Amino acid sequence: MNIILLGPPGAGKGTQASRLEADRGMVQLSTGDMLRAAVKAGTPVGLQAKAVMEAGELVSDAIVSALIGERLDVADTANGAIFDGYPRTEAQAEALDLLLSERGRKLDAVIELAVNEDALVERITGRFTCAKCGAGYHDTFKQPAVEGVCDVCGSDEFKRRPDDNAETVRTRMAEYRAKTAPILPIYEARGIVHRVDGMADIAQVTTEIEAILDRLT
Ligand code: ADP
Ligand code: ADP
Ligand code: ZN
Repeated sequence: MNIILLGPPGAGKGTQASRLEADRGMVQLSTGDMLRAAVKAGTPVGLQAKAVMEAGELVSDAIVSALIGERLDVADTANGAIFDGYPRTEAQAEALDLLLSERGRKLDAVIELAVNEDALVERITGRFTCAKCGAGYHDTFKQPAVEGVCDVCGSDEFKRRPDDNAETVRTRMAEYRAKTAPILPIYEARGIVHRVDGMADIAQVTTEIEAILDRLT
């Protein structure tokens, strides 16, 4: 099964993707994570993407679709892929169709995380992750069980993204509205969009998504 998690920055895509990964043996494909790894490693892609990401704008379609194509060729995605943060434009949506069909695969569902935009700035400015294993946390909504210690790996080092500030978030939201929200009708026309209340608590959102996926299998 191949699914897209669609929603604005802070909607909970990454949080839900890692829970589905753990529960269902699907693999999370996050172009944001791939780009951040490229920036960190100083690859040519990373050098091109860094300033664009810091500004909250979109990296080129060609770059992100190439990253997804390479990732789909790794065997672990055969059990199912969760696209997190991709596609983000109509051109990327078309590229994804091609990337999947070239590999004899198809898109089964688009899960739209419906959220109230006013809540997203707080979600994003409070977001932090474990520096060692990448587990996601929030200052208010998902603190580690023991303060300062990662629930998953025990590390005491955490990090925050440079683009997770109130100002850049506004640009990222505007990019979402202008370029990403318009891809929903493409999938609605195929009858594969499922809307989930992304304002519910984290576990409840997972339960709703699991119920949708169970009905599809
Ligand atoms: P996205 O990948 O869509 O940008 P994240 O999954 O990283 O969003 O979530 C953004 C922040 O909000 C994180 O700090 C996360 O812990 C928190 N969060 C995610 N889902 C919820 C939720 N349903 N309720 C409250 N906080 C949430
Ligand atoms: P979030 O879901 O919180 O907005 P991501 O980690 O998905 O964040 O993306 C962070 C940044 O990486 C984006 O603001 C954008 O600059 C870049 N990016 C990630 N995925 C894409 C994509 N599919 N197309 C273009 N740019 C992307
Ligand atoms: Zn950790």
